[in-house]
Amino acid sequence: APALPRPPHPRIITIANQKGGVGKTTSTVNLAASLALGGLGVLVIDMDPQGNASTALGVDHREGTPSSYELLMWEHALEDLMQSSPHAERLFCIPATIDLAGSEIELVGLDHREHRLAEVLNSEDLVSLGIDYVLIDCPPSLGLLTVNAMVAASEVLIPIQCEYYALEGVGQLLRNVELIQQHLNRSLEISTIMLTMYDGRTKLAEQVAGEVRTHFGDTVLRTVIPRSVKVSEAPGYGMTILQYDAGSRGALAYLDAAKELNSRADRLHSHVEDGRVST
Ligand code: ADP
Ligand code: MG
Repeated sequence: APALPRPPHPRIITIANQKGGVGKTTSTVNLAASLALGGLGVLVIDMDPQGNASTALGVDHREGTPSSYELLMWEHALEDLMQSSPHAERLFCIPATIDLAGSEIELVGLDHREHRLAEVLNSEDLVSLGIDYVLIDCPPSLGLLTVNAMVAASEVLIPIQCEYYALEGVGQLLRNVELIQQHLNRSLEISTIMLTMYDGRTKLAEQVAGEVRTHFGDTVLRTVIPRSVKVSEAPGYGMTILQYDAGSRGALAYLDAAKELNSRADRLHSHVEDGRVST
């Protein structure tokens, strides 16, 4: 993979869509691996109790492993929870274990319940840890785990599957992002929409992609992720597509998408001053 220029400051990106199976986790781990293979420091925070991102990144997430649950509970510092992924030099993951499953409820009773993650993710620490990107993989819901991810981030990336009902639920997601912007995180922006599971043989995929581009303009990445069996096989081997089949269409698409995402660092509205994100 060609070297990628470092963004001027760490970017914290939440990958969200309350619809399941649209490619959130797949996009999180493959973008993360692509960015890291480009030489950037990348931390994935797995916020889905399923732990699928942790699996694909090849990190331990058995019950009892220090995880994103301890991060939310403020029991351990960020750097103590980061595990190195064997897949790339500067690729890290804070895994999700089954302990996270009860936390949607547990969080309700805690102080700063929407800001638990934001409080422990600040750009000064990220800079000193050499992290250029934090990618947060969300569960398929708009509950407190996703809210925490959105309050901690400055960007939302929405994967949209090129299938029937692709835009179903997206309106609700946009309204939720707006509420977060109004009440909890003024610097949040929907910076990126990514088209996933594109099947070039069908007219439908083309129509959906066209519709999404009409709605969202240049927020949509030009790179489209093809539907490919290999992409879906990789996690079964504890890998991303970049390890499983580096020359495949899926791998090349994610490398392109990562490059495009990285090239957009300059056009963001938000900027960081004295370690604090502001607009
Ligand atoms: P989410 O995290 O939004 O629930 P996943 O990333 O887990 O979605 O993807 C849902 C399913 O689709 C998984 O089985 C995954 O392997 C598969 N999948 C994701 N992206 C692709 C793709 N580009 N081609 C084929 N299968 C894919
Ligand atoms: Mg997922």
